[in-house]
Amino acid sequence: MNAPPAANKLAGKTALVTGSTQGIGLAIARSLASANMRIAVHGLATRAAGEAVAESLKRDGAMEARFFEADLRDPASIEVMMREVDAWGAIDVLVNNAGIQKTASLRELERDTWDAIIGVNLSAAFHTMRIALPGMAQRGFGRVVNVASVHGLVASVRKAPYVAAKHGLIGLSRVAALEYATAGSKASGGVTVNCICPGWTETELILPQIAERATALGVDRDAAIASLLSEKQPTQRTSDPSEIGNLALWLCNPAAHNVTGACIPVDGGWTAQ
Ligand code: NAD
Repeated sequence: MNAPPAANKLAGKTALVTGSTQGIGLAIARSLASANMRIAVHGLATRAAGEAVAESLKRDGAMEARFFEADLRDPASIEVMMREVDAWGAIDVLVNNAGIQKTASLRELERDTWDAIIGVNLSAAFHTMRIALPGMAQRGFGRVVNVASVHGLVASVRKAPYVAAKHGLIGLSRVAALEYATAGSKASGGVTVNCICPGWTETELILPQIAERATALGVDRDAAIASLLSEKQPTQRTSDPSEIGNLALWLCNPAAHNVTGACIPVDGGWTAQ
């Protein structure tokens, strides 16, 4: 077990990060681990793979780390997972990060695709927040960080369920921020609910779109990424997942008690246009 430095107020607090077996969720878990937190790892992965991630987080500085399973399309599984995590440690930080995406026009979209994307990207956050927030309020400290997207703020074609889910996630977060605004105090850190809205970030999620663009233009991966960036992201640079992780860690700091109901774009100027 790693020992906490005295000045670190997050040390020993428990964080559940959904979808933390890879990508942005894993990067957020690594940032929270560096603050000596206890990390509940979650994702669609084998038990061996999930436990390997938990072990790596301990090497990153996590006081403890453990893998929890739940398919977020199933509310009953979410409730079981929330009870299991709570028995391991009351949830101080909840990061709703897990997400899926599929590009198709409204005309082509199938009902199952709609249900799955809304289920994982939006409804799951309602189920976890509903359960976790009252305990945070009781203890006077809590952080909910919801990983939305630029697509929570603006639309793109061929992404109807994803855009609907991310807009919904921002609305849900704003309501929760208001309902819990008076919980806790400046000294205790309060309870805040915020969204991070990434633009193009290099993870497995965007691989199908890169492949589709590469095929359409007959170019390699780098040229396909440059083409995607040139349409929407003014800096022409992708983000690294660790940059989202650093921002999530900052939002968890007790000194960020008055940052609530916010949507913070990490999108190279996409939504400034
Ligand atoms: P990723 O595909 O690398 O990781 C997704 C994670 O969610 C995985 O751990 C996976 O196991 C988990 N997950 C997926 N379906 C699940 C289910 N049914 N039940 C439980 N867990 C499930 O994707 P990522 O890029 O790291 O995405 C993380 C978040 O960031 C998502 O909410 C995504 O919408 C958002 N986002 C990503 C980008 C980007 O460019 N990568 C941009 C904006 C927003």
